[in-house]
Amino acid sequence: MREDAIGIDGVLSDDHDLIPSVKWLVAFRNRNPDGHIGKISIREFLCGGFYEAFDRVQSYAEKTNVEVLWFKEKRACDGPLTNSIQLQLGCFCTYCNIEHNTEDSIPCEELYCKSNLCSRKCYEDHVELKHRNSGTLR
Ligand SMILES: [Zn+2]
Ligand SMILES: [Zn+2]
Repeated sequence: MREDAIGIDGVLSDDHDLIPSVKWLVAFRNRNPDGHIGKISIREFLCGGFYEAFDRVQSYAEKTNVEVLWFKEKRACDGPLTNSIQLQLGCFCTYCNIEHNTEDSIPCEELYCKSNLCSRKCYEDHVELKHRNSGTLR
């Protein structure tokens, strides 16, 4: 198995050969309660196709209450952005809801559970809370 066959969420994806992961950039704007124009921040993330990227960006925006200005493949961005280094777009721990790097996240191994946990501790707490009675875990 090739190292790069593992997706960002640590799960093998069947369509990896069809849609290789590429870098995307997304621009968010903070929503200011006082009506002023919020600060713009740019993040980058690895993702396969447009729809996967759309989902990532939307769920991030919902969680953090920011506005999505645009997102596109990094290589398609203008000039300096293409070679810039941006903060990683993290994902949120299902258990404690803290943003963390996708590389550090631990996917739940339970079938049909799409949870991502930020640490061993959260993983164990999540399993205890959600899957204790399912009987498929040791
Ligand atoms: Zn956590
Ligand atoms: Zn789970």
